[in-house]
Amino acid sequence: MRGRPSPSPLESGSLPPTFYAGGPDCAGVPPFRVHAYNADFFILRQAACTNFEKPFLYLVFGRDRALLLDTGAGRVDVATPVDTLIRAWLARHGRAGDSNQLVVAHSHAHGDHVAGDSQLVHRPATTVVGRDSASVRAFFGITHWPTDLGAIDLGDRVLDVIAIPGHQAASIAIYDRRTGILLTGDTFYPGRLYVRDTAAFAQSVDRLAAFTRTHAVTRLLGAHIENTRTPFRDYPEGTVDQPDEHSLELHPDQLFELDSVVRAMRGRMSRTALRDLTVWPVAP
Ligand SMILES: [Zn+2]
Ligand SMILES: [Zn+2]
Repeated sequence: MRGRPSPSPLESGSLPPTFYAGGPDCAGVPPFRVHAYNADFFILRQAACTNFEKPFLYLVFGRDRALLLDTGAGRVDVATPVDTLIRAWLARHGRAGDSNQLVVAHSHAHGDHVAGDSQLVHRPATTVVGRDSASVRAFFGITHWPTDLGAIDLGDRVLDVIAIPGHQAASIAIYDRRTGILLTGDTFYPGRLYVRDTAAFAQSVDRLAAFTRTHAVTRLLGAHIENTRTPFRDYPEGTVDQPDEHSLELHPDQLFELDSVVRAMRGRMSRTALRDLTVWPVAP
């Protein structure tokens, strides 16, 4: 008897021991440090010398197109490393002459995640998704924002899109079904979780936790690191050189802990340090 096909196993990958982004001096430092999580999933970390925010960008390849999540902070050349990665990927697949389609989306619309858009809008075969929630909703086919899921198929690679407003109105998380990685932007990362809309944030964290309980989530990767390796301690705002920073990855248990802490606040949020991150309400 033939049963249902078993779900395909998740693709593995590796993270480096540290994503150290360097100090204030840019001499000899490339603007982005590139890490291959595996052959089809790349993590780019912006050098600290170019901008203290040193955000993380993600480039994920499907058979037909690639998705770039975020374009960096300040004035930095993001087009060159992205083009280099795409050319190399195509060459490895015997498609050196192709110009692969590229979708450029954003974890959210804050300036430290969209600065390189202007370098990519005129790139051939490239779609830059609009930054407002209506554009994000339309592009990813989210029927009811923010409660419904959206998705994009890159070709043998479906990414689920979860609307998570609260840090910013157009915030999304992206779940990669092939690796089980959940990309969480500025909503969940080892640092200061700036909450602008407390009610929306609480609901978004709850929805993200519910999604994580019902899907095979291996790692949660955000867009910054601001905590140190010492529990409950972050680097001061604006710190450039972070030699002892927290790991990039967080795990489902840490999201569930945040969810229960936020629930217990019952809409009255106050600055609260957890072991690996801080809930940090700010004026809307
Ligand atoms: Zn932000
Ligand atoms: Zn940010």
